[in-house]
Formats: sequence, structure tokens, C-alpha cells
Amino acid sequence: MTPQKVSDILIRIIDEDWHVYTDDAINALKYAAKVVEKEVPKVPIADHEKELCICPNCYAEFTTFDLANEDYCPHCGQKIDWNWEKINESV
Ligand SMILES: [Zn+2]
Repeated sequence: MTPQKVSDILIRIIDEDWHVYTDDAINALKYAAKVVEKEVPKVPIADHEKELCICPNCYAEFTTFDLANEDYCPHCGQKIDWNWEKINESV
């Protein structure tokens, strides 16, 4: 099972079955969904020169050099997708 699939299932449970659970349980599911969502790789936002990258989750700014060796944003823990073709589309 992929992180995206887990996230989709958690969000569906929260949206459709919220009335079945206590507020604490729904808050726990929402927390879990946020944690799992960070495991779904997202491409950073880059400037035209590809020297600066912005985390797609927390919008922290890094030099591409600093972030390029990291699989996760050091600020928020978002998994980074370093597919440069996708990054080029985000510019
Ligand atoms: Zn981040």
C-alpha cells in the first residue's frame, strides 16, 4: 500500500464516517492523514535558474544545493520528488 492510498483512505473515512467517531478519534485520523501526506513525494517549487527551491508543503526556501541531497524537507519533513522534468513544469 502506498502513502497516497493510505492518505486517500484516511481522508475518505474522515469525510464520510465522521459522525461514527468521537472528536478525539477524528482529530487522530486528521493528524495521521497529515503525517502520511508528507510521505507522498512532491516536487519543490524552483526558480528559473534552479538555484532556489521552495518546499511544496511549508514553503521554506532553500538553495537547490542544500536541499538536493535530502529526501525530505529539513524544516517540515515533506518527502521531496527530485524529478527535474516535473520541477521544470513548476517553473
Ligand atoms: Zn517543508
